[in-house]
Amino acid sequence: MKRYSVFAVAREAMRQHSGWGRAWSNPEPKTSYDVIIIGAGGHGLATAYYLGKNFGITNLAVIEKGWLGGGNTGRNTTIIRSNYLQDASAALYEKSRSLYENLSQDLNYNVMFSPRGVMMLAQTQHEIRGYQRTAHANSLQGVSTEFIGPSRVKELCPIMNIDGPRYPVLGALWQPRGGSARHDAVAWGYARACSDMGMDILQQTEVMGIRQKNGNVVGVDTTRGNIACKKLGMVVAGHASVVAEMAGFKLPLESVPLQALVSEPIKPCMDVVVMANTVHGYMSQSDKGEMVIGGGTDGYNAYTQRGSFHHLEETVRALIETFPMVSRLKMLRHWGGIVDVTGDRSPILSKTPLGNTFINCGWGTGGFKAIPGSGWGFAELMANGESPLTAGFGLDRFRVGRFIDESVAAGVAH
Ligand SMILES: Cc1cc2nc3c(=O)[nH]c(=O)nc-3n(C[C@H](O)[C@H](O)[C@H](O)COP(=O)(O)OP(=O)(O)OC[C@H]3O[C@@H](n4cnc5c(N)ncnc54)[C@H](O)[C@@H]3O)c2cc1C
Repeated sequence: MKRYSVFAVAREAMRQHSGWGRAWSNPEPKTSYDVIIIGAGGHGLATAYYLGKNFGITNLAVIEKGWLGGGNTGRNTTIIRSNYLQDASAALYEKSRSLYENLSQDLNYNVMFSPRGVMMLAQTQHEIRGYQRTAHANSLQGVSTEFIGPSRVKELCPIMNIDGPRYPVLGALWQPRGGSARHDAVAWGYARACSDMGMDILQQTEVMGIRQKNGNVVGVDTTRGNIACKKLGMVVAGHASVVAEMAGFKLPLESVPLQALVSEPIKPCMDVVVMANTVHGYMSQSDKGEMVIGGGTDGYNAYTQRGSFHHLEETVRALIETFPMVSRLKMLRHWGGIVDVTGDRSPILSKTPLGNTFINCGWGTGGFKAIPGSGWGFAELMANGESPLTAGFGLDRFRVGRFIDESVAAGVAH
C-alpha cells in the first residue's frame, strides 16, 4: 500500500494522479477464516484492525451486507466526548477519545479529528446538579471536564441566546478535548489499514444464517456461499437482534430510528459542539459550513433507515429558542439510522451463549465516539477471552441486575 504523505501527493500531482492504488481490495471470499466479523461499520472494522495490530490475527474477513460504513457509522453527527458518569463507561470512552487524538497518524489516513470542545447545556436546576456531579466524577476518573457558568458559555458560543424564555442557559458541562471527526474517513481509514494487513472486506455479502456444532459456531451462510470460521464477532448495531436470532439467542435491545439533518452551508459561526438535552436538540458546524443538527430517537421500533417528519419539526423548533438564527436557515437534507438501545443506555461487549462467538452492540445513539476504544477492547476480548475495558459490559449484567446506568449521559445525548 502506498503511504499517504505530502511527498506522495506532490509526486502524484506531477503525473495526473495516475499512480494511486485502490484504498482497499475487493476479494472473492475464501472458504474459511480464523475470524469472521459480521458488519463493516466502524466497530467491526476497528475490531478487525486491532485484532491484526495488537494480536497478529490477520486471516480474517469482515462481512458487510451493503457498503462499508453505510450503516450508522456513515449516518451519525460525529460527536466525540467521554464525559460519562460511571467508571466503566468513562474508562472505555476516554480510551476511545484518546485513541482519536492520534488516529490519523496511526492509520495514515486523515480522519479529521477536531477537538473543538463539546458543551452539554444545563437549562434546569436538575441538570446543573447532574452535570456538576458528572464533572466531579470525571475528575476522579482522569477525564478532563468542568462545569462552566452562562457567561463562559456565551463567550465560547456567541450565537447562542442564553436568556431563552422557557429554558435560559444556566451553565454547561464543558469538555475542551471533545469534538468531532469525519465519520466516513474513520471507516475508510480502518478499512484501508485492514486490507493492507491482508484481511478481506467482503462488501455486498449478507449473512443469512449461522452454522453451529456442539455449542460453537463453525461458519456463516452468506449470499456468496458458506464460509467457515473458528471465531465469530457480531457487530451489526441496529440489526444485532436479527443476527442474534439466527444464532438462537435473544438480546435486551430495542431498534429505533434516529435521525439528523443539515442546513445549507453558511459562513463559520460556531466552533464548538453544543448539546441541549432539555429541549432535545444539538448542533455543530461542519467543515463545509453546514449546521449539523440532531435530536432524539423516534418513538417506535423500526428498521427503515429514515426518520419521521414530525420529529424533524420538533428538533428544529426546540433549537430555535437557544439558537434563534436556526429560524432563518434552509434545511438541505435529512436521513436516519437504526440504533440499538439497551435499558441502561450502555453497550454490550460480551461473550454469547455460543462458545466461540462474541457480540458488540447496544451503542444506541452514541457509539461513533467509541469506535477506536470499542475496537481495542473487543479485539482483546475476542483474542484472549477477557479485557479490562469490556469487563463490565457483558450480557450477564441484565440477568444479575448490575446495570451501568448512563441514562443521563446517553439517554438523549449522543
Ligand atoms: C442520526 C444519528 C446520529 C448519531 N450521532 C452520533 C454522535 O453524534 N456521536 C456518537 O458517538 N454516535 C452517534 N450515533 C451513533 C453511532 O452512529 C453508532 O453507535 C455507531 O456508528 C455504530 O457503529 P457500528 O459499527 O456498531 O454500526 P454500523 O455502522 O451500523 O455497522 C453495522 C453494519 O452491519 C451491517 N449488517 C447488518 N446486518 C448484516 C448482515 N446480516 N450481514 C452482513 N452485514 C450486516 C450493516 O449493513 C452495517 O453496515 C448516531 C447515530 C445516528 C443514526
